[in-house]
Amino acid sequence: MLRPILIRASRSRWLADQFRRRRFAKRAVRRFMPGESLEEALDAGASSAAIGTEPVFTRLGEQIGDISEARDVVSHYLSALDAMQRKGVRGQLSVKLTQLGLLQDQTTCLDNVRALATRGAEVGTMVWIDIEESDYVDRTLEVFRGARESHDNVGLCLQSYLYRTPADLDLLLPLHPAIRLVKGAYRESPTVAYPRKEDVDRAYFELGQALLRASREGRALPVFGTHDLGMIERLRAYASSIGTASEAYEVHMLYGIRTAEQRALVRSGARVRVLISYGEHWFPWYMRRLAERPANLWFVAKSMIR
Ligand SMILES: Cc1cc2nc3c(=O)[nH]c(=O)nc-3n(C[C@H](O)[C@H](O)[C@H](O)COP(=O)(O)OP(=O)(O)OC[C@H]3O[C@@H](n4cnc5c(N)ncnc54)[C@H](O)[C@@H]3O)c2cc1C
Repeated sequence: MLRPILIRASRSRWLADQFRRRRFAKRAVRRFMPGESLEEALDAGASSAAIGTEPVFTRLGEQIGDISEARDVVSHYLSALDAMQRKGVRGQLSVKLTQLGLLQDQTTCLDNVRALATRGAEVGTMVWIDIEESDYVDRTLEVFRGARESHDNVGLCLQSYLYRTPADLDLLLPLHPAIRLVKGAYRESPTVAYPRKEDVDRAYFELGQALLRASREGRALPVFGTHDLGMIERLRAYASSIGTASEAYEVHMLYGIRTAEQRALVRSGARVRVLISYGEHWFPWYMRRLAERPANLWFVAKSMIR
């Protein structure tokens, strides 16, 4: 009931404006991000790496209004890669294509991804492409394919809630891709996405199995972007039953969620990374985190009281 309301709210500019001005909101959002600045994200990334969970950094922002903003985003990420190298923070990047100009000019967007991947390759890191609303999936796949023609160090996120994803994965596997599988965080119509969580979970497991089989043959790098510990255990058991080594796949979780479990996974031999978000434009992203677990609204209420 709350989930659709929160996801719809995530697109309200008025609410975003109101929220960003409130101190309680800034306090509440700190649960999921170390701060708005790159420096705060890098410090959190260094601490995370020290306990065995290397960071993936993402600067929040999506659906820019003008292509010139994409240039600023690219320059920011290039300087972030420099800062990571200078500070000795090993980490990857994760980017949203609607922040890199996808909705204004797809060719420029591809050039932007390539510019980041080129610098990423120089410093020995990956650039992940997030996946957004279903309307953008075709264009996102086209940009990913274009980027993969010139760069191996680009990975793509896919969502198990979309009916189309198994077919998309089949078409992508010949590229030997790095795929971060997630359940999906946006509001989608039942004409394109499973409305029931059990179907989303079932699809996730099936897609995860397909990725692990491909990984065993060296045809994919599967990344499980989920906090669903039961799912992770089932997929790990499946991996060992078919002889896929634990180094052949990874688990990625979000900063601030299930931190103790992230460490336990590392201790048990899993490769785990933590996605650290930062930046000023956190409102839509934060609403999606609340929607994933409406109990998180308690933290907002507690921050208001404090
Ligand atoms: C690394 C990473 C990258 C992602 N990238 C994308 C992307 O590019 N596109 C996209 O659509 N989605 C993305 N997502 C979000 C994803 O689609 C889901 O919305 C989100 O991960 C919640 O689903 P779940 O897999 O954790 O499983 P669920 O079954 O929803 O949750 C499993 C358990 O995890 C805990 N949990 C889940 N979410 C939260 C939360 N917000 N706060 C506290 N506890 C929580 C709960 O206890 C829950 O019972 C990403 C997620 C991760 C971890």
